[in-house]
Amino acid sequence: MSSTKTPILAASNFIRQIIERDIEQGTYATRRWAGSPGDAAYQAAGLPDPAKIRTRFPPEPNGYLHIGHAKSICLNFGLARDYDGVCHMRFDDTNPEKEEQEYVDSITDAVQWLGFGWEAFGTSHLYYASNYFDFMYRAAEALIQSGHAYVDQQTAEEMRANRGTLTEAGKDSPWRNRPAEESLALFREMRDGKHADGSLILRAKIDMAAPNINLRDPAIYRIKRATHHNTGDKWCIYPMYTFAHPIEDALEQITHSICTLEFEDQRPFYDWLLERLVEAALLAQPLPKQYEFARLNLTYVVLSKRKLIELVENHHVSGWDDPRLPTLAGARRRGYTAEGFRLFAERIGVSKADSWIEYTILEDCMREVLNISAERRIAVLDPIKLVINNYPENQSEDCFAPNHPLKPELGKRVVPLTRELWIEREDFEETPPKGYFRLTPGGLVRLRYGYVVKCTGFETDADGKITVVHCEYLPDTKSGTPGSDSIKVKGNIHWVSVNHAYAAEVRLYDRLFKEAHPGAGDSNYLDDINPNSVKTIIAQLELSLKEAHAEDRFQFERHGYFVADRKDSVAGRPVFNRTVTLRDAWQK
Ligand code: ATP
Ligand code: MG
Repeated sequence: MSSTKTPILAASNFIRQIIERDIEQGTYATRRWAGSPGDAAYQAAGLPDPAKIRTRFPPEPNGYLHIGHAKSICLNFGLARDYDGVCHMRFDDTNPEKEEQEYVDSITDAVQWLGFGWEAFGTSHLYYASNYFDFMYRAAEALIQSGHAYVDQQTAEEMRANRGTLTEAGKDSPWRNRPAEESLALFREMRDGKHADGSLILRAKIDMAAPNINLRDPAIYRIKRATHHNTGDKWCIYPMYTFAHPIEDALEQITHSICTLEFEDQRPFYDWLLERLVEAALLAQPLPKQYEFARLNLTYVVLSKRKLIELVENHHVSGWDDPRLPTLAGARRRGYTAEGFRLFAERIGVSKADSWIEYTILEDCMREVLNISAERRIAVLDPIKLVINNYPENQSEDCFAPNHPLKPELGKRVVPLTRELWIEREDFEETPPKGYFRLTPGGLVRLRYGYVVKCTGFETDADGKITVVHCEYLPDTKSGTPGSDSIKVKGNIHWVSVNHAYAAEVRLYDRLFKEAHPGAGDSNYLDDINPNSVKTIIAQLELSLKEAHAEDRFQFERHGYFVADRKDSVAGRPVFNRTVTLRDAWQK
């Protein structure tokens, strides 16, 4: 298996229970697999399937993947990994109008970035549903021939009117009982381009009085003159999604077809269709089964493709990979980790009931992972100068900062101390509030990894804004030397030597929406955009950060987790993005 093994113990859930039961009962043990997708005859000639289960992730390549998709990816690829199966990467590209190569590339990138792959049992399992058009056409003809489908020529309005309602049965189309040969001839004419778009439609013949409206003779093939990215102008008829999807699953010998709850009402048609095609000897048994889980709804973001497109196209954000967007491309630039997403998917689990997940749960997962993996560095985000007046002008001395408090094996690095330092503006207060333990006139504080200093004064500009703070250091107090803690201080502040600093662009990102449920009620979600979702600053960083490579991640001590931007960083001049603060500052 090429999927990454994560040391996360998967909690059980209803889908895992179904799979375990199926494996125990050998529900799928008789399946054969000829090495690629195909019909009953083709698969029958194959070997017993080495995969215990087959799942799939079937995005339509018409947009960028988002955090909701990550839930589905982790679920489907994770199940395949845990049960000696394989998860197929399938592009559901049967709709000719919207697909683009750019989306295909970004989707494969995102899935691999999350740590999953589709190479298993010696082959790749990346498929395009449009490669099944020939079979789908054959299946449609078979349904017509067996009396299970007919060509309807009612207008769209007539069909809508005759569909009935939730409480009223629909009415049979006047064309419903036309002879199979007539439907077949018309269907072939549809294929051959003899009819205008929308003038005829192929429908399954099930039951116009079915309580489930999806069984009232659903449309399965339509006429649509459109150039398809894969098949070009070969076809002017295209299958409907509800017809195509079960067939794709069956040709790929999928065992557990997992989708979101809104497809629950489609399940009877899914089963009906595949059973008819087994009767026609086109598909092999055992058939795939569909299971539904609740889609991810996350507070403070929008996960609808339409809204994401609008945010990008109307320049509310800088592009699909804007670090504030919930796209996986954006999350990656923001510094979110694949491991954090896998942890998140495990933690939220899968259920049968729709609910909202708090955004802080996702952030906590990122913090947990980064706390373990990210090395510590020092950064002064809002610098003012601190001058140590009793320290020699041209002296520089080594202080030692641990790279990771939980991993002493990562060692320490040198941070040079000099007479002039950058400290955070908020680490000095002329008139300190109660409980303030940092620098104040006459007060003592420890320069982290360095000396205890005593504040001796400060300078202001014409507006009274503090420009420089003065202090003196106590020579016997250097961290790590004997007796250094003979003088006890409550405060401990970080600093960077003015002569050894890297002045870098740092982007402080915040939530894109200020409301937990953007656009709730009758409001427009665009009105809920947070006007302060990014602040770009020039910060003073310790010099070692100048050598950071794109996507290197760090904890800037006391500030949070930051990543070198993968797009805007150049060698020797990385730009940093704040991934997440150390604690949840939002709820304050
Ligand atoms: P659209 O909104 O255009 O229907 P979609 O968000 O369903 O698109 P697809 O490309 O069809 O996007 O999705 C691929 C897979 O990802 C589907 O199997 C779908 O169930 C799953 N998926 C999409 N959104 C979510 C979500 N919010 N939570 C969990 N799974 C999701
Ligand atoms: Mg969809």
